[in-house]
Amino acid sequence: MKTVSVLGSTGSIGTQALEVARLHNFKVRALAAHSNAALLAQQAKEFLPGCVCIFREEKAGELRELLSRDADTAGIEVLTGMEGLNRIASLDGVDIMLNSVVGMVGLEPTLTAIEHGTDIALANKETLVAGGDLVMKAAAERGVNIYPVDSEHSAIFQCLRGNKRSQLKKIILTASGGPFYGKTRAELENMTAAQALKHPNWSMGRKITIDSATLMNKGLEFIEAMHLFGVSPEQIEIVVHKQSIIHSAVEYDDCAVIAQLGVPDMKIPIQYALLYPERVECPTKPLSLTDIGTLTFSKPDTETFECLAACIRAITVGGTMPAMVNGANEVAVAAFLEGKIGFLDIGRIVSGVLNDLDPAPVTCLQDVLEADRAAREYANTRL
Ligand code: NDP
Ligand code: MG
Repeated sequence: MKTVSVLGSTGSIGTQALEVARLHNFKVRALAAHSNAALLAQQAKEFLPGCVCIFREEKAGELRELLSRDADTAGIEVLTGMEGLNRIASLDGVDIMLNSVVGMVGLEPTLTAIEHGTDIALANKETLVAGGDLVMKAAAERGVNIYPVDSEHSAIFQCLRGNKRSQLKKIILTASGGPFYGKTRAELENMTAAQALKHPNWSMGRKITIDSATLMNKGLEFIEAMHLFGVSPEQIEIVVHKQSIIHSAVEYDDCAVIAQLGVPDMKIPIQYALLYPERVECPTKPLSLTDIGTLTFSKPDTETFECLAACIRAITVGGTMPAMVNGANEVAVAAFLEGKIGFLDIGRIVSGVLNDLDPAPVTCLQDVLEADRAAREYANTRL
């Protein structure tokens, strides 16, 4: 029986992870959310963790009140803020911590869990985009395993098993293309948040769904793949594959290509990360290739979807530039969701970072936090 902690337990990934935990009778040591006290209390009632963290301190009273109503949950410790997330990340006796919070706020608890020697199932891709060098170095030094949850990276991780890393030629990172695949800039100009939130294949949180529509998500995943698998930008080819059945592939020196396939259901990669290396029953549908019939492939349009090009440029520049591009995107996406800016403004702001801000080397967490702060300030002035 596994003991897990889940940061971001009330989100799309978090709730699916708890479905997996329920099926396999995991012991849940701790849960954390941002502000959804009602769902967090309900999850605490079912899984009886030793402690819960609600990031927004103003919500702690409501959570405590909900937990006090039941004798089983009355004794659960309630934590708040970054201090609370770090406390959870440094608990003893946890086999694996799932980090599925959204945004680079997940970086610090990831580093804390690594310092503590706890393995991590990582969905929170912004963590690697902003602080990938720090995270991968710390994990290597501490001998901590980072299991990718992102479906593409889980696929690549699986395709790399049993082969020599030195014989890997390239990674083929697949992209669904999002809801606006094939559209021109003129057509994208007036796209609303409601239209952008309708993803054709995946049901996900709001931020990543917008990132999928702008292709920022693929840019973030490009950087994520470089850190996780130690490859150069030239070794990653992005291929639009609208059906999201091939979750990614790798090519070896002999030109053999190995891909991982499955229905588009995050429970498969979530479970693989949490139960690695076991492959056991998963609460999802099996894949029927004959029902699907046709799989298609094409090149991404990086001129229309400038966020993708901006991410690739940012990682090539290096230093704090990826953290800056990510920070500006977080601000721009929130503003788009609130109807304050148009769809194409997200790309304008993210690309602007590359022209207007100067990156610095990353030597410690503070460098990343400072770059993130500067990028947010910049983005706020451009809304
Ligand atoms: P959601 O918006 O659905 O959920 C985010 C979760 O994080 C919620 O539980 C939220 O709490 C919590 N949260 C946000 N900020 C904080 C904070 N400061 N402290 C504690 N908890 C916090 O997002 P997703 O589940 O879709 O995505 C999570 C991460 O996984 C993202 O990085 C995303 O890119 C990545 N990912 C997601 C995929 C998906 O299919 N959804 C696929 C691949 C990667 P609350 O509910 O209270 O707001
Ligand atoms: Mg993905």
